[in-house]
Order: sequence, then structure tokens, then C-alpha cells
Amino acid sequence: MIANAAISGTYLKETDMAHIIVIGAGVGGMPAAYDLKNTLGKDHEVTLIGSSEYFQFTPSNPWVAVGWRKPEQVLVPIRQHVEKKGIRFIAQMVTQLEPEQNRISLADGQTLNYDYLVITTGPQLAFDEIPGMGPERHTQSVCTTPHAEQAGKAYQAFLKNPGPVVIGAAQGASCFGPAYEFAMIVDADLRKRKLRDQVPITFVTSEPYVGHMGLGGVGDSQGLLESEMRQRHIKWITNAKLLEATDSSVKVAEHNSQGEVIKEHELPTRYSMFIPAFKGADAIAAVKDLCNPRGFVLIDEFQRNPTYQNVYSAGVCVAIPPVEVTTVPTGAPKTGYMIESMVSAITHNIVATIAGEQPTYRATWNAICLADLGDNGMAFVALPQIPPRNVTWTKKGKWVHLAKIAFEKYFMRKMRTGNTEPAYEKYVLKALGIARLKG
Ligand SMILES: Cc1cc2nc3c(=O)[nH]c(=O)nc-3n(C[C@H](O)[C@H](O)[C@H](O)COP(=O)(O)OP(=O)(O)OC[C@H]3O[C@@H](n4cnc5c(N)ncnc54)[C@H](O)[C@@H]3O)c2cc1C
Repeated sequence: MIANAAISGTYLKETDMAHIIVIGAGVGGMPAAYDLKNTLGKDHEVTLIGSSEYFQFTPSNPWVAVGWRKPEQVLVPIRQHVEKKGIRFIAQMVTQLEPEQNRISLADGQTLNYDYLVITTGPQLAFDEIPGMGPERHTQSVCTTPHAEQAGKAYQAFLKNPGPVVIGAAQGASCFGPAYEFAMIVDADLRKRKLRDQVPITFVTSEPYVGHMGLGGVGDSQGLLESEMRQRHIKWITNAKLLEATDSSVKVAEHNSQGEVIKEHELPTRYSMFIPAFKGADAIAAVKDLCNPRGFVLIDEFQRNPTYQNVYSAGVCVAIPPVEVTTVPTGAPKTGYMIESMVSAITHNIVATIAGEQPTYRATWNAICLADLGDNGMAFVALPQIPPRNVTWTKKGKWVHLAKIAFEKYFMRKMRTGNTEPAYEKYVLKALGIARLKG
């Protein structure tokens, strides 16, 4: 029941049903819709809007690109699972948001009104900022499952005619883990195929040092990752800006810590994959006072937009400042557990405001990241993600590779069942001192 809550221009009466729309059915949006519906029950309506009928488990995309997973193994059909829980699902792109009218428009011409909006539209991939970059030009991508499928076809062709490989993360990137993962997974796959001796691999990154990860390092991530790259004969170039990609090379400018170019490299390549810089979704970025200049949604400590207070946001689409200024621009990653903690805070805060109270819940923004390195892996824990931290460590081992496979099955199961924080997750992580909400 709603107790006369005043929500930024929307006044709900005791008997009113609140309508909450979640835009973006990804790693943040699907759990958000489940959490909200599980918590609010039948008295309120939850609508989830996704760009397609399928949820993609993004972390498995590097495996798709080397053929270790088929694309359909990392997809979950959304409609049948969420509708079972009473969530309305619409597979359409949102083309316009008018927060003053509490209204969104969809690609098919429909308009919908909301009382609360949760924006979880993830990253828009800024391939266009670098000549020749992106899957429509000369570099592959693992950022979406269709991209990974395309990267997989190119990889199969490459295996017939192997040669140099360049993998990395461009200037302005904020997601470095998948670039490291992909370099090591390709290395492991080529070793299995006995082709590694024909493939020099170079890792190119905007980070100031290997293992920075956009986080200023996590424990000894620099030492461990450098050692791993040395063991695997993967060369690296840090402080790098990707200048141009062609069908046979990538041009890279290497900088010193003063930001001066110390060397330009033209790296020959038969296969390259780069993580691009991210920006916010067009329809969201277009709204005045909602976003920062890159189109990321501005939020306060309660995940709520300061201008439009019935608009909340979680995931890659939120604005967070870089952890530190780097010579070549890098951003702070937004990782899965951190995103889930944002979603938990949003659910609690929307429930509170519907009840006429002020939002008080704050996400912990703890980062727990499992990076698969093909035959072993590295676990990164940063509590909280943004320094200074209470806990920070990185550990390497085969157990991480196995844990990542288990996590894939577990998360996709959660997306099918709608049970977004099963008891064992709550208690195991609690025992490790990791909680989703502060306080
Ligand atoms: C390759 C890769 C691997 C990663 N691996 C890990 C990992 O192992 N561990 C980890 O913690 N983090 C990982 N991350 C980081 C992060 O967890 C993921 O990027 C995660 O998918 C982000 O969740 P999200 O909900 O913000 O965005 P997404 O999961 O990308 O979901 C956003 C959704 O919104 C949709 N959308 C966008 N615009 C609109 C619109 N206008 N209308 C309707 N829908 C729209 C998109 O199509 C998409 O479906 C990885 C990231 C990448 C790119």
C-alpha cells in the first residue's frame, strides 16, 4: 500500500498502484526487475524493457569467441521467465525519455508512463572514436554475444592462416578484465591446438601498468599479471593510445608518464580484439541534466538522479569518476557484484519512497571479479572498489577457472528462477565480510 508518497511531481494515493519501469534487460536490469517484483508483490506493476528477447551473460563472451561456448549457451530467453513472476516484458528499444512527463517512447511508437524509472542500459560501445575500430571495421569485439559470435567466425578463419595477434583495451576504456581474459584464453586455446608457436601475441592497453585495471591495481595484480604474461610469452605496451586499425595492422602511440609520445608502433596483425571506451545510451544521454557529458547517468549516494528524483540507475550506465587520473585516459570498471549491490539499494529505496519515507540505502560497491585465464584464473577482491579500501587482494589458481564456470551456471540459473539473492550467496559472502548494502 502506498502512503501518499510525493515522488518528484508524482503524487500517489493510498490505493494507487505504482508502476516501475526498468530499461535494459542485462546483468543489472533483469535482477532489478526480479528484485522489485519479489519485494513489491501484486500491489505494484513492474515493466522490464529489453532491446531483445534474450538476456546475454556478458562475462562468457570471451569463451564464445574461441568456440568454447556456443552463443545460445550464454543466452536466456527473458519473456517466459519474467512473465511467470508477474513482470510485464517488452522487447523494444527505448527511443526517448521525457522525465518531466514521467514518460518513455519505444521504437514501435508506444509510449509508457511510470512512477519510478530504473535505468540499466549498460554501455554504448564507442568504436567510432578510433579509425578502423570495431567489428564493422577491422577489430573484433567480445562486448556483446553477437559480437563474440562474429569474433568466433573470424577466429576460425584465422586458425587456418595463423599469424600475429593484438589484443587490448583502447584509451578511455573502463573494462580491462575481459581484454586480459581474452589474451590468455586465446593463448590457452592456441597451445591446445599446437599453433601457439606461429602466433606472436601483443597486449596493448591504455592502463599505466599491467594490472592497473582502472582501479589503481588490486593487491598485487600488477606482479601476478605481469608474471602470467611473461610465462605465456605475451608482450605488452602500456600507456598506449590506439591510433588506427587496418585489416593488417594496428597503429599505437606509446606515452611516458608526462604524456609525451615515446614511440609509435605499427603492429602487424591477422586477428585483433579491442575493448572500446564506453558511453551512455543515446536516448538517455539526450536528456538534459540527467547525465554527464559521456551520457552516463548522474546518481546520488542512493542511486537516484539528483534532478529527477524518481529516476534511479545501476550498472555500467552510471557516472562514476575515474579512481585516479592516468596519463592515457582510463575509467573505473563497474563489475557484476558491484552492479548487484546497486540494484539491491535501488529496490530498498524505491520501496521506502513508495511508503512515503526517504531513501536511505546505499550500495557497498564492492568489487569481486573472477578473471578466467583459459586454464587457470585470477580472483580480484576490492572492498570497496573505490580506494581507500578495507580489503584488497588478488589470488591466482586453477580454482578460479573452475569457479568462473560455476558462476556462469549459477548466475544464468538465477536469471531463470528469479531468485536474485539465494540464501547460500548471502551467507557465504557474509562470512567473507562481503555485503551488498552499507550499514
Ligand atoms: C566482455 C565483458 C566481460 C565481462 N566480464 C565480467 C566478469 O567476468 N565479472 C564482472 O563482474 N563483470 C564483468 N563485466 C562487466 C559487467 O559486469 C558487464 O558489462 C555487465 O554486463 C554490465 O551490466 P549492465 O546491466 O550495466 O549492462 P548490460 O548487461 O550490457 O545490459 C544493458 C542492456 O540494456 C540494453 N539497452 C541499451 N540501450 C537500450 C535502450 N535504449 N532500450 C532498451 N534496452 C537498451 C542493452 O541492449 C543491454 O541488453 C564484463 C564486461 C564485458 C564487456
